Amino acid sequence: MQTIQPQAQMVRYSIITQKNPREIVLLRGSGCKWRRCRFCDYHLDYSKDEAANFMLNQQVLKNITGRYHCLEVINSGSFCDLDHATMAEIKTICRAKNITQIHFECHFRDRAKIKTLRADFAAIGVTVKVKIGVETFDALFRESYLEKGIDTDCPAAIAKDFNECCLLMGLPGQTIASMRSDIETGLSHFERVCVNIMERNSKPIQPDPAVITQFQTEVAPNYQNNPRVDILMHNTDFGVGGNTHAK
Ligand code: SF4
Repeated sequence: MQTIQPQAQMVRYSIITQKNPREIVLLRGSGCKWRRCRFCDYHLDYSKDEAANFMLNQQVLKNITGRYHCLEVINSGSFCDLDHATMAEIKTICRAKNITQIHFECHFRDRAKIKTLRADFAAIGVTVKVKIGVETFDALFRESYLEKGIDTDCPAAIAKDFNECCLLMGLPGQTIASMRSDIETGLSHFERVCVNIMERNSKPIQPDPAVITQFQTEVAPNYQNNPRVDILMHNTDFGVGGNTHAK
C-alpha cells in the first residue's frame, strides 16, 4: 500500500441537483482500516500525513456554499478515518453555510462511533445520516466472495445504526431476481439506497457485462424515478472521484 499521487486529476467537490439535492465533497483521510474487499481499490486515496490531509480537505471544503443546506462527505474509508482538524472544519462550515443535514460513510466495524458523531453534530443543529456499503444482502456471497467484513446476515441488524446503504451490482453470479431483491431489502430497512455498478479496477473481481445489461434493461427502469434510489452507472456519476480506480 502506498499513497497515490494523482490528486490533480481528482475532482473533490460537486453538486448533486437530482434526488436529495446536496453538495458533495471527497475528502482524504488516513485510509480504510479494512481494505480487504476484493472488488475495491478505492481505499488507495489516503495519506498518513494528517497535516497534509487537513490542508487538502480545507481547500476542498472552501467550495461549499450551503445552497441546499445539505452536504455529503465521503472519504475512502469511514468518517472516523478523517483527522480531528478536518472534522472541526466541517462543523465550522456547517455553521457558516447553514448546513442542516450532513451525510457520512462508515464501515460496519466502525459503527460504535456513530452515536458520538450524531451527538456532536446535533449539538450544532445538524442532522447526521450515515451510509454503509452493504453491497448485497446475500451474506454468503458478500462475505465469502466479496469479503466485505459484515458479520451478520440480518438486514435489520446491519441497518440498526445506519440510515442509507450502498449496493454493488454488475457482478458475476448476480441475477435480475437477486438485484431486485437486494434493492427491495435495502428500501425496507434504509431511508435511501445507492446502487453502484461495478467498474473494472486493479482488484480480482471484475464486472460482468451481461449482468450490467440485465440491470440496465430489467432492474433500473423500476427505480430510476424513485427519489430514494441513486443509481451510479459510473463511479464518478456524483461528480467526484477520478483517477484512483474508485469503486
Ligand atoms: S469497499 Fe470500503 S470497506 Fe471495502 S476496502 Fe473499499 S474502502 Fe474499505
